[in-house]
Amino acid sequence: MAEPFVIFDRDGTIIKFIHYLFDPKLVELSENSVPGLLALKAEGFKFGIISNQSIISRGIASVEQVENVNRRVKELLELSGITCEFFMYCPHTPEDLCFCRKPERGLGLSAIKEFDIDQTASFMVGDQHSDVIFGHAIGCRSIQVGDSVNKSHEADFIAADIFSAAEWIISKSRI
Ligand SMILES: [Zn+2]
Repeated sequence: MAEPFVIFDRDGTIIKFIHYLFDPKLVELSENSVPGLLALKAEGFKFGIISNQSIISRGIASVEQVENVNRRVKELLELSGITCEFFMYCPHTPEDLCFCRKPERGLGLSAIKEFDIDQTASFMVGDQHSDVIFGHAIGCRSIQVGDSVNKSHEADFIAADIFSAAEWIISKSRI
């Protein structure tokens, strides 16, 4: 049976934003993300992360460095009792015109197929307007988190942090 997921963006959403992050030692989970994820887990949601990592195509970080950062995020989440089913990323720049850089749907469609995600019962959470557009393009509801000055006018909800996003998601999924 298809399952409900909450898919997260990585930088500036599940972890604190650091420009050109490639050192796993600098990874820190965002404020209030752990209680938010635990509340969602208790409701039966599973988790995945989809991020744009153009720093690979730009030659700033290697695939290995990006994967080391992802491994650190996974480790920090697991220390709090949270399992993340997948870490997917697009290595391209916008100029590469690929199908996997959000808001393109490529990675989302692969995740839906591979993890049997029930899109209509699932949510996308990210700090950028492109995350909101991406979530809708793959059939999910979209929440924008953080204090980005670029508020998305298409977000289903704008939340201060992951905990407040989780409260909204839970209220919507009980209807
Ligand atoms: Zn790509």
